[in-house]
Amino acid sequence: MDIQTLKSQRLSTPALVLDENEILASLESLAELRQKSGCKLLYSIKSLPFTAVLALAKPYVDGFSVSSLFEARLASEILAGSGSVHLTTPGIRPDELAKLSQYCSHISFNSLHQYQRFSEATDCSVGLRVNPKLSFVADDRYNPCRQHSKLGTDIDLLWQSEHLPKLRGLHVHNNFSGTDYTPLIKTVEKIELFLREQFANLEWLNLGGGYLFNEINNQQPFIDLVKRLTDKYGLNVYIEPGKAVVGRSGYLLATVIDQFVSDGKTIAVLDTSVNHHPEVFEYQFQAELHEQQANGDYSAILAGSTCLAGDLFGEYRFKQPLAIGEQVVFKDLGAYSLIKASRFNGYNLPDIYLHRDGQWRQAKHYAYEDYRQQWLADS
Ligand SMILES: *Cc1c(COP(=O)(O)O)cnc(C)c1O
Repeated sequence: MDIQTLKSQRLSTPALVLDENEILASLESLAELRQKSGCKLLYSIKSLPFTAVLALAKPYVDGFSVSSLFEARLASEILAGSGSVHLTTPGIRPDELAKLSQYCSHISFNSLHQYQRFSEATDCSVGLRVNPKLSFVADDRYNPCRQHSKLGTDIDLLWQSEHLPKLRGLHVHNNFSGTDYTPLIKTVEKIELFLREQFANLEWLNLGGGYLFNEINNQQPFIDLVKRLTDKYGLNVYIEPGKAVVGRSGYLLATVIDQFVSDGKTIAVLDTSVNHHPEVFEYQFQAELHEQQANGDYSAILAGSTCLAGDLFGEYRFKQPLAIGEQVVFKDLGAYSLIKASRFNGYNLPDIYLHRDGQWRQAKHYAYEDYRQQWLADS
């Protein structure tokens, strides 16, 4: 998206601007990978379940992947029968199983215990999430194979389990924003080694998300992997990217609403906050800012407008000093931003705009009534 043109629109802020052209380009490149490898493609809706995005994705995918009852219901309503819904979560509740079975086509139980408890009571295609005990993520906060992981069944237990022959599928997800396929290949090889001939009894293998599939230059290792699994074992191989679909296509547009000096540094207060992109605070990283000039002569600490002292985007450098009323744009904010956002302090959620071919359209505006409704007691 051309950021200068975006800013010249003077859209209302704060706003999450989603570029439909870019989302479609991501979907097309994933569809090409699907076509070349023969894998099946699901969109992991937890990254951004905005229905406009689901509608864009629908023609390109074989279904959606979900992690809860609400996600399962939304996915099933949007697909309206034209695609499968795959669930995996540590959080299946007994009172939700009937509804989950209605909305989902595939369930990968998280533990052997969960499997034993629920598998008889569902007519979904039943599998198990496996913890392959292979870590590729240095930061344990998002490492599914960390010590004492809660995610998936320990592969050392699984291969000896009496339940293994009854499973229709396996699910594995053990990477984060991967940009090469080596971890995926090593993971599959380990599962193959441990499961041996049991592998041929499975109908499907879900390889999860956690890869920026369309940013990986050499797709051949993935294509070869899927082809081998399909030819050798007759498996249906699924991938379920989230961030790879929407991550790069989202922009947070904000306005500088105040500026002053504090202990010798310029503070620029924005009409947004880290509550619109909580991962900035959770993981203490700095989001990419379009206006940032690494060698710029001016600097400012971009601050959110809530009462939390640590509600800060960090210090950025600029070619020119920021001015009150100026708009700034954070990039790569499509995934795991708005879905985690809150109205802390009573600050509204961002509007959502859709951009396509030079046209901008407001697709969502949250109002005071939405805030009031959230906090209004039922009785
Ligand atoms: C979060 C998640 C995904 C999507 O991950 P991305 O990093 O957004 O591609 C897919 N599958 C499972 C099980 C997940 O937890």
